[in-house]
Amino acid sequence: MDISHKEFRARLHELADWVADFREGVSKYPAKSQVAPGYLLDQIGDEAPQQGEPFDRIMQDFEELIMPGITHWQHPGFFAYFPSNASRISLLAELLTSALGTQCMIWDTSPAAAELEEKMMHWLRDLLGLPKDWEGVIQDTASTATLVALLCAREKATAWASNKHGMQSLPALRIYVSTETHSSIEKAVKIAGLGSENLVKIETDEYLTMDPRKLEEAILIDRAAGRIPMAVVGSFGTTSTTAVDPVKPIGEICQREDIWYHVDAAYAGSALALPEFRSLSEGMELANSFVFNPHKWLFTHFDCTAYFVQDREALIRTLTILPEYLKTQKRSRGNDYRDWGIPLGRRFRALKLWFVLRHFGQDGIRAALRQHMKLAENLESWMNADERFEILAPRNFNLVVFRLSPSSMTEAQKEILNQKLLESLNADGRLYLTHTRVQAKYALRIVTAQTDLTEDYLQDCWHFILDRTEVLMTET
Ligand SMILES: *Cc1c(COP(=O)(O)O)cnc(C)c1O
Repeated sequence: MDISHKEFRARLHELADWVADFREGVSKYPAKSQVAPGYLLDQIGDEAPQQGEPFDRIMQDFEELIMPGITHWQHPGFFAYFPSNASRISLLAELLTSALGTQCMIWDTSPAAAELEEKMMHWLRDLLGLPKDWEGVIQDTASTATLVALLCAREKATAWASNKHGMQSLPALRIYVSTETHSSIEKAVKIAGLGSENLVKIETDEYLTMDPRKLEEAILIDRAAGRIPMAVVGSFGTTSTTAVDPVKPIGEICQREDIWYHVDAAYAGSALALPEFRSLSEGMELANSFVFNPHKWLFTHFDCTAYFVQDREALIRTLTILPEYLKTQKRSRGNDYRDWGIPLGRRFRALKLWFVLRHFGQDGIRAALRQHMKLAENLESWMNADERFEILAPRNFNLVVFRLSPSSMTEAQKEILNQKLLESLNADGRLYLTHTRVQAKYALRIVTAQTDLTEDYLQDCWHFILDRTEVLMTET
């Protein structure tokens, strides 16, 4: 039996305090969970309990068993990967979403969700200065949105025949990315049945961005061999270093060659809210589709991916299904978003965007993003002023990619030194970094995009990095 209404009210009040304490005190927890693999498996029974248990017991286990195994993505010292910077206002909206417990597959299953989603996608589109005729839809992740983009590209390249007949009798359909592109594109290529052999990785230049001349060459070679160039996925902010593939030159090639152009701006898309970054998106109207994640760098809880398309009919034509039990009278009135993505069922995700965008306002969003840029700029300047540190990639936004690089050391020694640095920093708890490789060099990354990251906290972290550097350099 479910918890009674009376107890529910009491527990909700208790949890309200728990949540507020947690968010206020999150920096007291280690940014990266320090448990060993398997720590929980030994502590959870092999079967669900026969008899129900009281809330207090479950909650106690949550604190004792679960919390130690949590990596704190809302910790101010979470500098790893890309963040998922969930604001407090977004959390409040998520609470309401949970309360409603709606499933928003079509307009009828919650008209407010469908209509709010339509509006929120317009708000986001205009906030980022994307073309006014684009339409958008919320997806669970960028990976899914990119898969959807490739499915649409596949349909378009085969004159809407691949969904019906399969692809057995077709020549190879080719997809072009740069060598720095996110792994989700290769995954999408596999899932879409295109074959990872048909993913062509174009070499990058010294800025780690796709070289459009090499792209053009690869397309011509494929055409000459009877293959069909199907899609180009450009990166607007690669995961490794936030490199931006040149939007307009790639767009012009795609237009000339009639190839689907998908832009993966999963992380850095948010930067387009700032007019001073708009020049980077010149030519974006040439793209067929564009994805970015408000759940990474726009203060909105995971999951919330914004997927925009130039031609919504192409999207719906690729994905629509209409069995009898889903037929309704009102199809002409609102969007049935189940036809705009892969899952049938959908959470009410527009609500948190509405709360975030209204509470911050456009000015508030811009101020917060500019603060993140400034923190990264400060960090970079501290590193530039210390000859032991080397910046390994141009800083386009708020990601600093660096390593310790003592002049006396060989490349192999530097790699070991930086691995040790990473390990020793992450074992402490006050911050969490991850690494990458830049032109074969082992590099550390710091992303300054947390909702509550302050200049003071970053400075503390920097001094901590300097302390650990000191220790490691005297050891070696
Ligand atoms: C994070 C990221 C993705 C994947 O995002 P998900 O929403 O987790 O699927 C794709 N591309 C880039 C460039 C990313 O940074």
